[in-house]
Amino acid sequence: MYVYGSKNRLFINTTLGCRSRCSYCYLPSLDYELGASNLMIKNSDYVIGMVEARTDFIKGKKGTIISLGCYSECWDEPVRESTLALIKYFLRKGNPVQFATKRYVACEDIEQVSKLISWRGQLSIFISSTTLTKWNSIERGTDSPEIRFGSFDLTKKTGVPVYLYIKPIIKSVTISDLNKYVDIVKNKDVSGVIVGSKFIMNNDNNSKLAPISNGKLKYNEKSLEEEYMYVTLSQEVQTFTESVQAIDYWRNHA
Ligand code: SF4
Repeated sequence: MYVYGSKNRLFINTTLGCRSRCSYCYLPSLDYELGASNLMIKNSDYVIGMVEARTDFIKGKKGTIISLGCYSECWDEPVRESTLALIKYFLRKGNPVQFATKRYVACEDIEQVSKLISWRGQLSIFISSTTLTKWNSIERGTDSPEIRFGSFDLTKKTGVPVYLYIKPIIKSVTISDLNKYVDIVKNKDVSGVIVGSKFIMNNDNNSKLAPISNGKLKYNEKSLEEEYMYVTLSQEVQTFTESVQAIDYWRNHA
């Protein structure tokens, strides 16, 4: 689905599937391909047309949150141009725009859109990581953490907040790198951290629905490891459990 969501938040993709192969990725459970050799990419105008045809899109700072790339890696090189076009379009509308990525985000790319930002935090970037020491086996085909964390330099250069996005917490894996994550927060220009739960498929009617996937995915129950990571990181920097909380922070404070 290229456009999914509601008046509160729209998820937009210009491709479906991903060239990387993260072992925990939910895309295969939604029948989207990982390790794709050939991505079918829609023109940004086509996707913008789909948004314009909806009656629930609300423009402006308090309007619809635009989340780019829930069914794809929106900053992968073949998709980046169309993602940048979407960012430009929705920044001009005044809406909050966010994306999460496991790719390095270069300053030159953000500089070409940053002049369109009309309020601080309107564009926010989430650098995703679930493991440092096991990156090579668990997040195959992504930029190494060392390379992608170079994106934290963006805030000083462009004013765009850049968050460390630790989601999902993988049992016994993510927590083993907690001290390293704390060092990153202390030593890099990290605007904040998201410690988030995994999305899973289950039939438990009591589980909270994930914001994507048309009811197929639900939030996994919060683990003690997740709570410990949240408490530890929140002692260092502003920490949230969902990226939209960071957006609400900027909408209410900027
Ligand atoms: S980069 Fe994102 S979309 Fe691609 S395989 Fe990894 S988790 Fe899935």
